[in-house]
Amino acid sequence: MMKTSDKQFEVNKSEQEWKQALTPEQFNVLRKHGTERAGTSPLDKEYGEGIYKCAGCGQPLFKSDTKYNSGTGWPSFYQPIEGAIETSVDRTLFMTRTEVHCSRCGGHLGHVFPDGPKPTGQRYCMNGVSLKFDGETEA
Ligand code: FE
Repeated sequence: MMKTSDKQFEVNKSEQEWKQALTPEQFNVLRKHGTERAGTSPLDKEYGEGIYKCAGCGQPLFKSDTKYNSGTGWPSFYQPIEGAIETSVDRTLFMTRTEVHCSRCGGHLGHVFPDGPKPTGQRYCMNGVSLKFDGETEA
């Protein structure tokens, strides 16, 4: 098996397989660390009860009761589901930011900033295109 320096995730697909599995917008964000335009995701204004899952692999990432309106135009949460996300240091765009990705497939979700509300003080600033809202799951 080919080994790269990248961490191996439980869900591990080739670039070509991801391209086939995802929409072009999802591929650009999840696999290429893209950022959707602020205010473009319908999930920014979604406040129903449910679970936000990874659009790449379906892993539950956030519960609706941790979602809040950050006013940024991106879906924002103050706390992920335990173990669902991992972070890395992102030094692009002349800034140091904390990148957030799915712990199961490695898909890029967004960034986390220390200016969120109580109780965590964290703002998980997510690309809506990286998420799938499941409103039928009990929150
Ligand atoms: Fe995932």
